[in-house]
Amino acid sequence: MKQFAVIGLGRFGSSVATTLARMGYDVLAVDTDEQKVERIVDRVTHAVQADALDDESLKALGMRNFDVVIVAIGHDMQASILTTVMLKEMGVRTVVAKANTELHGRVLARVGADKVVFPERDMGVRVARSLVSKNLLDH
Ligand code: ATP
Repeated sequence: MKQFAVIGLGRFGSSVATTLARMGYDVLAVDTDEQKVERIVDRVTHAVQADALDDESLKALGMRNFDVVIVAIGHDMQASILTTVMLKEMGVRTVVAKANTELHGRVLARVGADKVVFPERDMGVRVARSLVSKNLLDH
């Protein structure tokens, strides 16, 4: 069974973490904000308050043993990029990183993110497509 870690428990990260946990996967959820950690603790396998920019904390959490680590830090672009670099240097096989802008996404890809997601852009595409297919069905 695949093991996942999610770093950053904003709207996107917490949704990814709880959805994976509901599907039965092992999920470690990490955030610097104790309140975010407390809010999710009952819905994931483990939830820990830690700063991803602290190399030692990441190592202590055993990040390299996870199959997939999702970097769901958005606004703090520097933290998102540095965390992605550190995870890849630690040997995490698959790092999925959330980008807020196209440029942020290009940088994440260049520093080694295996997959870059743009939640707002991608959801916009999905909503647009679903509206059109619904209209087609309605007529
Ligand atoms: P969303 O759109 O998913 O709500 P966002 O783009 O607004 O997210 P942020 O709020 O910037 O993203 O970050 C998401 C979470 O990441 C926050 O809960 C924040 O506390 C956490 N976070 C930021 N920096 C770090 C870090 N260095 N280590 C761990 N968590 C962090």
